[in-house]
Amino acid sequence: VKIHLIAVGSELLTPFFRDTDSLYLTGRLNDLGLDVAAKIIVGDEIDNLRSAVRTSLAEADLVFVTGGLGPTGDDRTREAAAAVLGRPLILREDIVRTIEKRFLRLGRPMPSSNRKQAEVIEGAAVLANPAGTAPGQWVEIGKKTLVLLPGPPSELQAIFEAEVWPRLSSRRRACLARLVLKTTGKTESEVEDLIKDLYPKEEDRRLTILASPGQIELHLTASAADSPAQASAPLTALALELKKRLGPAIFSEDGADLEEVVGRRLRERKETIAVAESCTGGLLSRRLTRVPGSSATFREGFVTYSNPSKRKRLGVPAETLETYGAVSAETAAAMAEGVRRTARTDYGLAVTGIAGPSGGTADKPVGTVYTALSDEMKTSVERVVFLGDRERVQIQSTQKALDMLRLRLREKEDG
Ligand code: ATP
Repeated sequence: VKIHLIAVGSELLTPFFRDTDSLYLTGRLNDLGLDVAAKIIVGDEIDNLRSAVRTSLAEADLVFVTGGLGPTGDDRTREAAAAVLGRPLILREDIVRTIEKRFLRLGRPMPSSNRKQAEVIEGAAVLANPAGTAPGQWVEIGKKTLVLLPGPPSELQAIFEAEVWPRLSSRRRACLARLVLKTTGKTESEVEDLIKDLYPKEEDRRLTILASPGQIELHLTASAADSPAQASAPLTALALELKKRLGPAIFSEDGADLEEVVGRRLRERKETIAVAESCTGGLLSRRLTRVPGSSATFREGFVTYSNPSKRKRLGVPAETLETYGAVSAETAAAMAEGVRRTARTDYGLAVTGIAGPSGGTADKPVGTVYTALSDEMKTSVERVVFLGDRERVQIQSTQKALDMLRLRLREKEDG
């Protein structure tokens, strides 16, 4: 099956908006063993729209058009598609009622311009939109299929899952299995060196390394003609070998992020944590509280950006700050111990560093970060110099701090 995706919207041709709908569609089509041959982004202008739809329908078997199904004058996808197919648009009163009801639930009358969203290409199947007003449309033209979907990602995804996925399942080319191993603490090239002889030679298997700040992911996929179990068997064997090579650097095998893994362990152990941050400005607290259920373990987080704040909130001695500086192993340790003491938690986790772009010195260049972890047994401190801009330094710092905690919990569990 040859597939084209057309993203409609003049805003997508500016530097301010990104076409993420096509990424979602591509991911889900790949899950069915289907590949996308081409993507096109086109503005709202009717001639360009018609020409994009005409070209894709001539070349591909399955064409998705996203966006331009709204109620306003510049929403022209329905009109353009109908014109290319030479079919009329039919106003469906039942869809008008559905849209009216949606507005009534919100306590408002339906503006008359929304009637346009009830226009359906003759012969199209209507794909109900549980998350918005414009329904999608599924049009079969001989052996070819044209699918119209609204642009807002929540609406596109809801319709895709409920209406499009089941219709496409019959065109599934193969059963696909996917496994993701997430690692931290090693660079991309370190990971690559450890695993490079394990890249599968078989056509139907793939191992890909994806790097983001502080995290290297290994994506394993395999396909098999008959059953998902047949596809996943070789992946399990490969994952086992990768785990042997990478050991404790792997923190997740089920898609979970580092904060989820750490949060889960803390909850299981019924232990609590408090956080003191300087250069990360609250990002560590944010990550820990992103996880549902974090209230069972997370007590409080301090953003102690200034020296007086570190003294007053955490009891970091003035002498420590004067002698060693705010960015030092001694201050990081005093922050972790101080926050653990004031919050009365099992763990105190702290970060202090120079996120940049200015503020670096010869012995503490930009990117120098100290992370500290304190519990009833001991206080440990680590120093790392991270590369990258301010945001990357901040992300990597929180990753390092969370990983210190993960490894400490692991150590305790291993006895
Ligand atoms: P609506 O009925 O809400 O007007 P629509 O189908 O007309 O939906 P558009 O008007 O084209 O969709 O876009 C509405 C919003 O959806 C855009 O402002 C944008 O935020 C988002 N959107 C549209 N296309 C995409 C895309 N390809 N990727 C990500 N977001 C998109």
